[in-house]
Amino acid sequence: MLRSLLLVLSRQSWLRHWMETSPAADRLTSRFVAGSTIEREVAVCQKLNADGYLATLDHLGESVNSLAEAEKSRDAYLAALDHIAKLNLKATVSIKLTQLGLDYSEADCRANVECLVTRAKSIGSMVEVDMESSVYVDRTLALVSDLHARYGSVRAVIQAYLYRSESDIHNLCKQSIPVRLCKGAYRESSDVAFPRKKDVDANYVRLMFELFDHGAYPAIASHDENILDRALSYIRERNITADRFEFQMLYGVGRDLQRRLVAAGYRVRLYVPYGDAWYPYFMRRLAERPANVIFLARNLLKS
Ligand SMILES: Cc1cc2nc3c(=O)[nH]c(=O)nc-3n(C[C@H](O)[C@H](O)[C@H](O)COP(=O)(O)OP(=O)(O)OC[C@H]3O[C@@H](n4cnc5c(N)ncnc54)[C@H](O)[C@@H]3O)c2cc1C
Repeated sequence: MLRSLLLVLSRQSWLRHWMETSPAADRLTSRFVAGSTIEREVAVCQKLNADGYLATLDHLGESVNSLAEAEKSRDAYLAALDHIAKLNLKATVSIKLTQLGLDYSEADCRANVECLVTRAKSIGSMVEVDMESSVYVDRTLALVSDLHARYGSVRAVIQAYLYRSESDIHNLCKQSIPVRLCKGAYRESSDVAFPRKKDVDANYVRLMFELFDHGAYPAIASHDENILDRALSYIRERNITADRFEFQMLYGVGRDLQRRLVAAGYRVRLYVPYGDAWYPYFMRRLAERPANVIFLARNLLKS
C-alpha cells in the first residue's frame, strides 16, 4: 500500500513544487540524486572515481514534448561528455531514446544519438542506451546495433523480465555488443513479461551466465544479493577475470554491497542521476523500497 501511495505522490505537482523549493530538499535527496546541475554531478563523480567506482551520468530532464526539447536534452549530454573529457572522469553517459525524440522522429532521434556516440568515442567514453517499456525494444536495439557497427562505443540494455530477452541477448552477443543486464522497471503485461518475481530472477541468472560465456564485457546491473552471489561463484568457477565484466548499481542503493565489491577488486559502475527533473526519479526509488521512507523521515526531522 505504501508503495502505491508513493507512486501516487510521485505524480503530485504540489508536493513536487514543495520538495523542489524546500531548503530541506538537498538533504533529503542527495543520497539518490547528485543535484540539479552538471557541476554537482561532476563533483559526485569525481568523489566516486577517487573511491574506486566508475560512473554513468544520467540527465533527468522533463518529459520531451517536441524535437526542440530533444535537442536540448542532447546538448545537456554533450555538456556532460565535455566535463568527462575535461576532468578525465572514468564515466559513461546513460540516455533514454524517448528523451532524445524517439516519439517524434526516429531519424532525428538517431541523429541526436549519433552525435553523442561520436563525441563519446572521441574521448574514450561510451553511450549506454537505457531500455524503456517493451514497445520501444525493437527500435532501441535496431539503433544500438546500427551505431555499434559504425562506431562501437555504445552499450545495450536487456531486461530479464521480458520473454524475448534470451533471443535478444543471443543476437547482441553475435554482434559483440556490450550488454547491461537488469531485471526491468516498467509495468508490463504477462503477454510479454514474466509476471512472477521468482521467474524474473531465474531468467536473470540464465541470461547472466549466457553473457559471462558469450558476451562482450557484460554489465551485471542488480542489487540482489542472491544474484550477485551466483555471479561471483560463476566467475570463480570459470576463472573469469575482473577486467572482463563490471557490476552496475544505482547511486545510493546497496551501498554496503557496492563497497564490498570494490574492496574485493571488482569494477563497480554507479548510475548517478542529476538534473531539474529529479523529483519523479527520487519518488520512484522510495517506492521501490518503502523502508527508504524511514531514511527520508529521519532526515526531515534533522532539518
Ligand atoms: C545501473 C542500473 C541501470 C538500470 N537500467 C535500467 C534500464 O535501462 N531499464 C530498466 O527497465 N531498468 C533499469 N534498471 C532498474 C532495474 O531494472 C530494477 O528495477 C532495479 O535495479 C531493481 O532490481 P534489482 O536487480 O536490484 O533487484 P530487486 O529484487 O528489485 O532488489 C534487490 C534488493 O536490492 C535492494 N534495492 C532495490 N532497489 C532499491 C531501492 N530503490 N532502494 C533501496 N534498496 C533497493 C533491496 O534490498 C532489494 O531487496 C537499472 C538498474 C541499475 C542498477
